[in-house]
Amino acid sequence: MTATHTAYIGLGSNLEDPVQQLKTALQELDQLPETSLTQASSLYSSKPVGPQDQPDFVNAVAKLETSLEPLALLDQLQALEQTHRRVRERHWGPRTLDLDLLLFDDQIISHPRLIVPHAHMHERGFVLLPLAEISPNLSLPGKGSITDILSNIATDDLQILTKSE
Ligand code: AMP
Repeated sequence: MTATHTAYIGLGSNLEDPVQQLKTALQELDQLPETSLTQASSLYSSKPVGPQDQPDFVNAVAKLETSLEPLALLDQLQALEQTHRRVRERHWGPRTLDLDLLLFDDQIISHPRLIVPHAHMHERGFVLLPLAEISPNLSLPGKGSITDILSNIATDDLQILTKSE
């Protein structure tokens, strides 16, 4: 494989054994075509965004090397979500697996199917904290350094469940 791009993926689940969902998903990301998993954060638990009458989420961030282009990678992520029988009954409701393409090199992408950097990532502790764990010196295109952004975000509801290996 000629790896030409670095991509960061946000993973989340709050249904059907979320810890296992995420562990399996990390292995599956490593098996995507033209792609390898180079780093994974610890698994974190977080309170749901939006409706609170649902289980806590488990979140993590993965770093990939890939020669897929952004939309092809998004297709692969969406196919993976489907294999986890993702449930989307309501906006911000429970889900078996959510995969977000957070960053793709230092590209800024504005496409009907794909906004990169991910539109909400700079305001979400459950994305920023695991991301900073694996890449503390990262800069978010158009937003600044991850440590600066993180210093203004509440992360008290986050707990490490499983340390990265
Ligand atoms: P959600 O269910 O909230 O994760 O949203 C999924 C929808 O967001 C899909 O229709 C995607 O095409 C779109 N989308 C836009 N930008 C992104 C991104 N950076 N990562 C994943 N999905 C995205």
